[in-house]
Amino acid sequence: MDFNFDYIIVGAGSAGCVLANRLSHDENHSVLLIESGGWDNNPWIHIPLGYGKHFDNPKVNWMYHSEPEQATGGRKIFQPRGKVVGGSSSINGLVYIRGQKQDFDLWDPERRFGWDYNSILPYFKKSEKNVDIQDQYHGSDGELSVSSPKDLHPLATSFVKAGLNMGYPLNRDFNGVTQEGFGHLQMTIKNGLRSSSSTAFLRAAKKRKNLKIYTNVLISKVLFKNKDAIGVSGVRNGKEINFYANNEVILCAGSFNSPKILQLSGIGPKDILDEFNIENISVLEGVGKNLQDHYNGRIVYKTSNQYTLNAVMKNKFKSIREGLKYIFYRRGFLNMGSSVSAGFIKSKQLLSRPDLHISLILFSGDKAGTKLHPWSGFSIIVRLLRPKSVGSLRIRSIDPADQPQIFMNYFNHKDDRKLLVQAIKITRKIMKSDPISNDIIEEHSPGNEIQSDAQIEQFLATKGGISYHPVGTCKMGVEDDCVVDYNLNVYGVKNLRVVDASIMPNITSGNTNAPVIMIAEKAADIILGKT
Ligand SMILES: Cc1cc2nc3c(=O)[nH]c(=O)nc-3n(C[C@H](O)[C@H](O)[C@H](O)COP(=O)(O)OP(=O)(O)OC[C@H]3O[C@@H](n4cnc5c(N)ncnc54)[C@H](O)[C@@H]3O)c2cc1C
Repeated sequence: MDFNFDYIIVGAGSAGCVLANRLSHDENHSVLLIESGGWDNNPWIHIPLGYGKHFDNPKVNWMYHSEPEQATGGRKIFQPRGKVVGGSSSINGLVYIRGQKQDFDLWDPERRFGWDYNSILPYFKKSEKNVDIQDQYHGSDGELSVSSPKDLHPLATSFVKAGLNMGYPLNRDFNGVTQEGFGHLQMTIKNGLRSSSSTAFLRAAKKRKNLKIYTNVLISKVLFKNKDAIGVSGVRNGKEINFYANNEVILCAGSFNSPKILQLSGIGPKDILDEFNIENISVLEGVGKNLQDHYNGRIVYKTSNQYTLNAVMKNKFKSIREGLKYIFYRRGFLNMGSSVSAGFIKSKQLLSRPDLHISLILFSGDKAGTKLHPWSGFSIIVRLLRPKSVGSLRIRSIDPADQPQIFMNYFNHKDDRKLLVQAIKITRKIMKSDPISNDIIEEHSPGNEIQSDAQIEQFLATKGGISYHPVGTCKMGVEDDCVVDYNLNVYGVKNLRVVDASIMPNITSGNTNAPVIMIAEKAADIILGKT
């Protein structure tokens, strides 16, 4: 084992793998990528439908839970996160959505720091290999494969047509000129296999002599000499182990674990550092604050269509046929991500951009990760694109193996409660229109008896789900609550950056994997002085 490197990257997830690739491109730089999980050898990681198998598999998943909160019925909400090379990009639902132009323009309102939409679009394109769309919004030479669905499921076609019949526009590319409208989703899938950050960015790079990847090492803290980060300390096989960085340490441990490592290292809110007797290296009140995610409501329908995942899994003949379809043609359910089609719509016409996201899932169960219903069913997930409820997290103890206390604060803002109720009502109207209405036998959940605003709100509070998009806990910017500056340097210390979903000042309007990969692409250029 080597212990001295130019760059040390903590966390081989969506962001960490990109950085490891880009920083080791120049063979004069030695790079260490450290991951607490193991290699992504499990074949179900690579089969798109396999995400269901890892949703709660402790071998590849941190299996965190948020604290019980009144606004969500006192439930402890399960928070899966990838603990494996590839991080959450190895276990996610494979949907490729970048967000809206205005999201990034708000990150950098004066367009001075290179994070506005026009400045970051080249980074989305740089990493992308879109096999279906070639235009000014898409890249075709990157490492991350993005494809459009090969087969359009009849329910997907009906869902999109229903949206159009309700007057919403057709959108052939949610990552192009506009996100608004109904259409089919792009996926990080290549020839029937998941394109994770690991397969896309590490597979070739790991052969480089100047890149070392150490797995099964849990990093506990950053090491400092005065205010300069000089390395990291971790545990491997029960033994403490230190690694030293000549240039810098880069935390890519994700929105729950990057702020946790900072707090354990003496960077965080004063009350937390004092409570646990941690030496104050830099008091930053924002570490762990500004936590955002897309809380959602799920409407479940019983359908006459007998080609849902529920119907296939229940029937031996159909399952075998589905397996063969995948093995021989890379088609069918095994080649699908979590959702196939979506509508990005405005709750009110006068809005300048969509604020709601409704997506079609070709299966149903009582909640995410539980058994499928024994009848043929499908689900519609209804989300606010930019919720106002904001949470926080703090370390639970000084044991690095302990999960932090996570206060998601979901569904707590009155505007979120009102808008999500309205979103359910809008979605129900869409689902009552042709042709999707012809496929529906009945609304199983919430069900016809749940009609008033108060009933819907209660249903959402007690049964609402989440989107697995935590962001924002090491906010980028210049305000007092920011943790990193626009070059992603941690305030108050030297040679330490954070590069992952935690730096987002505001959650993007959609799924978060693509924006995290973009953040890492841009960070690599910043670190290498190319921007
Ligand atoms: C179940 C699920 C479904 C999702 N579906 C989608 C989707 O369909 N589309 C989409 O765009 N997004 C989706 N997301 C979200 C998306 O995958 C994440 O936003 C993104 O992967 C986050 O990237 P990251 O680099 O910030 O963190 P991660 O990818 O989570 O990487 C963090 C890495 O750091 C490692 N690490 C953490 N702590 C330590 C430590 N102390 N020492 C060493 N290593 C450490 C972790 O093991 C992990 O590998 C989903 C996420 C989940 C969990």
